[in-house]
Amino acid sequence: MTYSTTSANPTSYAQANAYTPLNFPELVSAIIHINEEHYDELLGFLTAFTSLSSEDMNEANVQLVDIYAEAIALQIQYKGTKKTSAQAHNPTFFIAFTAPITQFSDLNTQYILLKQQADKKLGKKTIKLTKQTFLVQDRYKVSQNMLRLELTGSTLDVSNKNSVPVDEAGYAYLFDLAHNASASQNVGDKASPTRAHCYYTLRKAWQTSDGVRAWVDVFLHGDTPGGHWASSLQIGDTVMSKREFPEKTAHLQDGQALLIADETSMPTVARLLELWDNPIPPLVLCVTQELADQAYFDAVKIGTDKKNGDKTRQSTECQTDNNFMLLPLVAGKIHSGKELAVLIDQTLANYLTNHPLQIEKVWGALEAGTAKALRGLIQQRLGLERSDSVIKVYWRKD
Ligand SMILES: Cc1cc2nc3c(=O)[nH]c(=O)nc-3n(C[C@H](O)[C@H](O)[C@H](O)COP(=O)(O)OP(=O)(O)OC[C@H]3O[C@@H](n4cnc5c(N)ncnc54)[C@H](O)[C@@H]3O)c2cc1C
Repeated sequence: MTYSTTSANPTSYAQANAYTPLNFPELVSAIIHINEEHYDELLGFLTAFTSLSSEDMNEANVQLVDIYAEAIALQIQYKGTKKTSAQAHNPTFFIAFTAPITQFSDLNTQYILLKQQADKKLGKKTIKLTKQTFLVQDRYKVSQNMLRLELTGSTLDVSNKNSVPVDEAGYAYLFDLAHNASASQNVGDKASPTRAHCYYTLRKAWQTSDGVRAWVDVFLHGDTPGGHWASSLQIGDTVMSKREFPEKTAHLQDGQALLIADETSMPTVARLLELWDNPIPPLVLCVTQELADQAYFDAVKIGTDKKNGDKTRQSTECQTDNNFMLLPLVAGKIHSGKELAVLIDQTLANYLTNHPLQIEKVWGALEAGTAKALRGLIQQRLGLERSDSVIKVYWRKD
């Protein structure tokens, strides 16, 4: 059975034939990527653009099965044994793009437009394709390999649409490394930068008398494009972002949470902790290659910037028995792939043997291979609903 999104009325099987097939070589891996990394967005499309309720999607697996020039095709695969006759056919819904795709790079734009429309309908914050220019006010190390950029900018005005969120953890900016290419390339260095953009998180932002000031913390992993960009920046340079989006953390409002960070996601977890508004403090598993980098969390206090409630009471409690538990994992050369996922899972298992905790929510961000393997291991160990566990990809091993 197939459905279109305009009316969400059942249409005939012939409907797939109404769309133009695409034969870009990158399409299969794009479909796999969207299914693995953007599952909740697929649910959002169905909720926003069809008459399906979240109950209809309980006990079901949603799959992006194809991308046509004019639409994406989402199939609902019901798992239960008691299926209705409509469910038995694994219904397919076509979600129409704003404009047809003619080249592979259009997919990114059209997908973002769909996401923006869906988030708007659902009343959620969304990805913005906004250019912002920031001025580097200061730069200094906050732990062995973490470089802090302190930024301001003429557009950093909380009253306009380019405002910088002061109370969101994990809000990420796509920085344009090419904007500083001449500054960061050595004279005579003809090698072109291997990547033009890099995501970094807003570690923290706060209002001052002359606007908003922001920290962006960049972990330096040796001679990499992102690290090279950050360490070449000087006070007075400008940096430019081209895209920004909020992080998925709403599920952490209640219940016993586990936060899993590596070097790249420590800034997100640090801000999550400062804004922590859940009565139960989280368990934080922090994996780094070097022991010295664990010190990043030394200066982080739970609940110090929380949005609501009595901060004084919270910080007093934090200093006594309401602090977060930091479980450090120094993994040496194991920094990616399934091997690291197994190590993280084993470290968690050992901890839970001695400290029986009922973990109800998970947020983490790691290398792609680690994130993929860890999702399965965490699911096996904790048996959480898909919506209660968010394990993101923050970087990829070459
Ligand atoms: C939403 C989002 C938010 C992010 N926020 C931050 C942030 O606030 N701070 C931050 O530092 N990064 C953050 N990242 C990661 C960042 O975008 C880069 O992917 C990452 O720092 C690696 O980029 P690079 O140019 O340094 O190295 P790449 O060119 O991506 O990698 C080159 C090689 O460097 C090595 N390498 C890279 N990263 C690591 C690592 N973590 N551990 C060990 N070896 C590594 C590997 O050998 C890798 O193959 C974020 C990513 C996303 C998606």
